[in-house]
Amino acid sequence: MRLQQVTSDVFLAEGIASNWVIARDGTDLTLIDAGYPGDAAGVVASIEQIGHRIEDVRAVLITHAHIDHVGAIPALLELHRVATYADDRELPTLRGEPHEQATTWDVVSRSWRPRVAKWAITVARAGARTEIHVPETQELPGNSALDLPGGPIPISCPGHTSGHTAYLLPAAGAVVTGDALITGHPIVGTDGPQLLPGFFSHDSAAAVTALDALADIRADTLLPGHGPVWRGTLHDAVATAVARARG
Ligand SMILES: [Zn+2]
Repeated sequence: MRLQQVTSDVFLAEGIASNWVIARDGTDLTLIDAGYPGDAAGVVASIEQIGHRIEDVRAVLITHAHIDHVGAIPALLELHRVATYADDRELPTLRGEPHEQATTWDVVSRSWRPRVAKWAITVARAGARTEIHVPETQELPGNSALDLPGGPIPISCPGHTSGHTAYLLPAAGAVVTGDALITGHPIVGTDGPQLLPGFFSHDSAAAVTALDALADIRADTLLPGHGPVWRGTLHDAVATAVARARG
């Protein structure tokens, strides 16, 4: 786990093969996403590294219900019972109903390269093939600022999954974009704002359209689900990703 302080009260952690974000308000924290099942100890470590305890987490926000973003949540809830929230279109997946995730095998079989094989082994070890459910997750109470540390504002950006949601942290001028807009991935390398390779997404055309929802956000820091922090306007980040998607 590698932790980066983005602003005085916002932190991005890079786990085994995905990121999570911590927003702080005094003694209280909001956790956004939580890595793979194998990242549970890393999530706890990230909280302790900034001088807090798991008990300081007031809620967990979910960008989308993929294993690399919700994997450690059940283990964390065992340590500290707290509310979890996601868009209502993610809730069936979180309850264990049929879902929209590319399996590791889908990815490997469609893109057999050494880099992909290495990634597949890493994520298998991190628990990519475990079934993770967070059935108690509640629907986000709306699309205005949530009464949680960091005052996160949910921004619906469906495409990668049907209920994919980004979160604007207004005071930090940062947007947690999950898998709607990333800045690198082990199977493609790291090269600025981009979409995930199409085979990861439920609807890749919608994933491009979803970027419109992000382009107008007034923020100058991008906190992606995969890849490093990127500084610049969301407008520029989206333009870069769209140009790249069109090749
Ligand atoms: Zn995803």
